Amino acid sequence: MKLTVGFIGAGNIAEAMISGLTKVDQSIQIRVTNHANTERLQQLAVRYNLLASNLNELVENSCVLIIAVKPKNVKDVLEQLKTFDLGGKLIISVAAGVPLKLFYKFLPGVAVIRAMPNTSTTVLHSMTGLVRGEDVTSEQAEMSEQIFSAVGKVLWIPEEKMNALTAISGSGPAYFYLFIESLIMAGVQLGLSEKEAEMLVLETSIGAGKMIAESEKSPGRLRKEVTSPNGTTYAAINIFMEEKLAETVVKAAKACALRSEEME
Ligand code: NAD
Repeated sequence: MKLTVGFIGAGNIAEAMISGLTKVDQSIQIRVTNHANTERLQQLAVRYNLLASNLNELVENSCVLIIAVKPKNVKDVLEQLKTFDLGGKLIISVAAGVPLKLFYKFLPGVAVIRAMPNTSTTVLHSMTGLVRGEDVTSEQAEMSEQIFSAVGKVLWIPEEKMNALTAISGSGPAYFYLFIESLIMAGVQLGLSEKEAEMLVLETSIGAGKMIAESEKSPGRLRKEVTSPNGTTYAAINIFMEEKLAETVVKAAKACALRSEEME
């Protein structure tokens, strides 16, 4: 059976997922709708050769509905969905911090999965956390895996771990970007041009990522291998240790998890 997927909300995460999905799996039929800004909708439809829909048409023709609106707009979407017969359909919500119980309140008995992908879906390297709702069939769970494994890796978790996952992989790409931005700034302060610093930092981060992905060694071991005692790297690592980088990272991730919890 052809997988038919309808995105409700045509924003950043919808585009990241659509661009990834259309690269790898042309057999999935994708529709997209947005409550306003039809220009954006047309843009996405043309860019990825999709069917721009209204909600009625989208619900009627999609077996999977992906809710990709901001958390504060989820209730509006659920209010609208209440008027449809959703029997046999799977709802996947990517909205941060919106618990399964909200879906049950508006749509009793609905099959719903909470998903937390990240924006690396665009390059097919998302790390997506999935939470399975009570009424999801094995076939629907497989469908959701088909969608998210097309754009990266998938980890099923219980709902109580969703805030922790959001703090690590959901928001994680931004933490790495911040470090990269800071290292480029350091390069410029050390006398490199912006362009030189950017090239050095970007290639170094891609190389480090590949080493982590492809070597059998842990990140700690890889770090130790480039850090000879009293050497140049050692001088820098010592500052990170003295300035308590690890504690800062933990504090930041906890703040993210707390924010996600507050949104529930
Ligand atoms: P966005 O603002 O870029 O996109 C949301 C879109 O939804 C907008 O185009 C808006 O017009 C539309 N919309 C609002 N109300 C609607 C309605 N009632 N019906 C149809 N469309 C409606 O936001 P985003 O960054 O794509 O985030 C969307 C969701 O994805 C959020 O809930 C966020 O928590 C989650 N998320 C985002 C990321 C990320 O990296 N951006 C990662 C994981 C999860």
